[in-house]
Amino acid sequence: MKVGMIGWRGMVGSVLMQRMLEEDDFDKIEATFFSTSQAGQTGPSVNGATSTLLDAHDIDALSQMDTILTCQGGDYTKKIHPLLRANGWDGYWIDAASALRMAPESTIVLDPVNDQVIADALNAGKKDYIGGNCTVSLMMMALAGLFREDLVEWCSSMTYQAASGAGARAMRELISQMGVLNQSVADLLIKQDSSIIDIDSGINQAFRNNAFPVKECGAPLAGSLTPWIDSDLENGQSREEWKAEAETNKILERHGAATIPVDGLCVRVGAMRCHSQALTIKLRKDVPLAEVEQIIGSANQWTELVPNTKAASVEKLSPAFVSGSLQVPVGRLRKMNMGPEYLTAFTVGDQLLWGAAEPIRRMLRLLG
Ligand code: NAP
Repeated sequence: MKVGMIGWRGMVGSVLMQRMLEEDDFDKIEATFFSTSQAGQTGPSVNGATSTLLDAHDIDALSQMDTILTCQGGDYTKKIHPLLRANGWDGYWIDAASALRMAPESTIVLDPVNDQVIADALNAGKKDYIGGNCTVSLMMMALAGLFREDLVEWCSSMTYQAASGAGARAMRELISQMGVLNQSVADLLIKQDSSIIDIDSGINQAFRNNAFPVKECGAPLAGSLTPWIDSDLENGQSREEWKAEAETNKILERHGAATIPVDGLCVRVGAMRCHSQALTIKLRKDVPLAEVEQIIGSANQWTELVPNTKAASVEKLSPAFVSGSLQVPVGRLRKMNMGPEYLTAFTVGDQLLWGAAEPIRRMLRLLG
């Protein structure tokens, strides 16, 4: 299978390349590397070989591919996908960007959750396979067992999303913010007897200083948070919040009366990598907690049940612990005071792995 790789040096693309090398995926395909900005330069080294980068806007060169795998972003998809299809190209398009996710002919891929939906789409001859929103994919990995047993009547997700979800520049700015805060009170920190009120006041002054770096994040993230992600839909909801229900139901192929309501608030916090979510789940019936734990923990090899103890939660349910791992821990599981059908849970997942690169890597493997 000839595979055109686009966006391979971006953040999602770099993680994808790393995973493909780890899993020997390049042994199964004939990869051609493209770039929107570096055509003619040397491409990445794969199994000791390099090649010259082709122009990612060259429709004729792209048309030679059986499959195109892109992590380049939505603007690229919106421009190139229609041109290729209009040109008669009939190959598989695998994409990390959101641009085509809700298109009727697209399938959102998350095979541990919707392998049957993907199989049906392949049998039906569908050609566009798109990775889901990172937060939605991670929530669905965490609750895969409950969705499989059709136990979720509705779900509310309150998110704690990392700076990396806003791109490489936001990650850099978060660290810069941390540095500015530290510097602003450094002389007080080294004195054991300095007043915490003075330190706090110095931090507050730094937040309010016009020189505080907020170009990428829009506001202080270090020592603070931002309760809005993505665009304003002007109905009180952010686009990130809207995606939760829209994509969950598309991933599960549930429509009309079968739609599962999913809603909540999406919040950006000063974590580097890994999105966390506090979930409230209304079960369709009262299922004993031990059974719920068994269903969640045995859903697949990546979803990992964390006992609802302080020690296990502090150790295993943090972005710092989960970063770089394919495991999706789920913990803080208990029935809520509202009634026996109400369940609470907390989950953390690496949004560059199961939230971005891994579902599309596995889709490519399904084709090959
Ligand atoms: P990104 O890091 O900004 O990379 C996108 C492209 O920017 C690269 O492929 C590269 O294209 C170009 N680029 C320019 N300067 C670069 C530099 N110094 N280093 C690396 N690349 C550079 O974007 P991304 O975060 O990977 O996101 C790609 C797509 O995935 C987006 O549609 C995003 O919404 C989606 N997504 C992201 C996440 C996430 O957590 N970040 C999760 C799920 C989905 P050329 O080589 O052609 O110049």
